[in-house]
Amino acid sequence: MRVALIAHDRKKEEMIQLAVAYEPILAKHELYATGTTGQRIMEATSLHVTRFLSGPLGGDQQIGAMIARNEMDVIIFLRDPLTSQPHEPDIIALLRLCDVHRIPFATNLGSAEIILKALANDEIAWRKIVHEEQKE
Ligand code: PGA
Repeated sequence: MRVALIAHDRKKEEMIQLAVAYEPILAKHELYATGTTGQRIMEATSLHVTRFLSGPLGGDQQIGAMIARNEMDVIIFLRDPLTSQPHEPDIIALLRLCDVHRIPFATNLGSAEIILKALANDEIAWRKIVHEEQKE
């Protein structure tokens, strides 16, 4: 499965803790992240992450482009609800595209853990059908 990991600055520490705690699960999947989030995850774990641009410079939109092509299976975006972000429109666009394609999208640690556990238990298997259809 393709998993996108994004964290706003004040949520980066939480993202690192999540990545460390779930490293064995995440290691079985193809990981993508915005620039700084990906860098921090790779520094703290032995996970390989394909990094896009930093969020405010267009990284969210690059991940959005993959969602638009139905190429992303899970999004974990630890958002900072208390700080306004210059790239708010990009974040809303990302959410909308996930709704278009019914992509599981976690915006906080609570839902992120549920999604990662579902991933570990192969409970997002319907995405595999999408993958098969895309190969045809
Ligand atoms: P960053 O971007 O990982 O490059 O910090 C995240 C964001 O703010 O969208």
